[in-house]
Amino acid sequence: MKITQALVLSLVLFLFACTTVQETNRRALHIVSQEQLNQLSKEEFEQLKKESKLSNNSEYHKRIEAVIGVLSEVISLDSNQYNFQWDYILIKDDEIVNAFALPGGQIGIYTGLFKVALTEADLAVVIGHEMAHVMARHGGERMSQQLLAYGGSFLLSIRSEDTSPERQRQLMSAYGLGSKLGFLLPYSRVHEKEADRLGLYYMTQAGYDPRVAIPFWQRMSEEKSIVMPELLSTHPSDHNRIAHLKLILEELGLPYE
Ligand SMILES: [Zn+2]
Repeated sequence: MKITQALVLSLVLFLFACTTVQETNRRALHIVSQEQLNQLSKEEFEQLKKESKLSNNSEYHKRIEAVIGVLSEVISLDSNQYNFQWDYILIKDDEIVNAFALPGGQIGIYTGLFKVALTEADLAVVIGHEMAHVMARHGGERMSQQLLAYGGSFLLSIRSEDTSPERQRQLMSAYGLGSKLGFLLPYSRVHEKEADRLGLYYMTQAGYDPRVAIPFWQRMSEEKSIVMPELLSTHPSDHNRIAHLKLILEELGLPYE
C-alpha cells in the first residue's frame, strides 16, 4: 500500500470506525456494522443448532434461563442500542468445559461447564463474562482487526449497511481466512480482562455475589478435562486473572478474603 493510500485509509477509519467501549472508555476500531454482525451471528447460530448435539437437561436449562434473564435485564438499556438477540444453546458434551458468545448475543454452553459451575452464581460468572464480550463488541473488533490485516482496499468499501447475501459472503470469506470457526477464536488479553471486569459488574447489579468468581476460576484452573479456548487459554496465567479479579472486587467494595 502506498503512503497516500495508507493516509486516506487511516483517516477514513478514524472518522467512521472508531467507537468507545461505553463501560470502560477504551477506544475500539469497528469497520463492520453491528447490523451485519447480527445477521452473520444469526446464520452461524442456526448452523450451530443444526450441527451440535443439544442437551435437554431441564435443570441446566432452568439455571441458564434464570441467569440470562436477570443479566439481560440489568444490561437491557445498553443492549437495545445494538439490537442484540440474547439466546442460547446447551450443547451436550460433558467433556468440554466451555462457553462462547456470537457477536449478535447468541450464547453457547457445553454441559461440561456444569462440573465447575456448581451454582447459579457460578454460572453468572461465565454468562456475565460472555455477555460482556457481546456488549463491548469484542467479536466485531476482532473481526475488524483481521480485516485490517487482510487488506486496505477491501476495507474502504466494507463499511456499509449492505446486508445482501453477496456482501455477507465477502465478509465471511475475509473473516474465514484465519480460522474455520472464526467466532470461536480466542480473544486478546485486553478483551478478556474487560469481559472479566464487566461481567463482575453485571452479576453484582443482578444481585449475585461476585466473590464466587475467585473459587470458580480456581476450580476452573484445576479442571482436568478439556477446557477450551475462550475460558482459559488466552490469559497470561490463572494467577494473574485471579489477582485482577480481586482488584475488581475491591473496586466493587466487596473484597475477597
Ligand atoms: Zn472471554
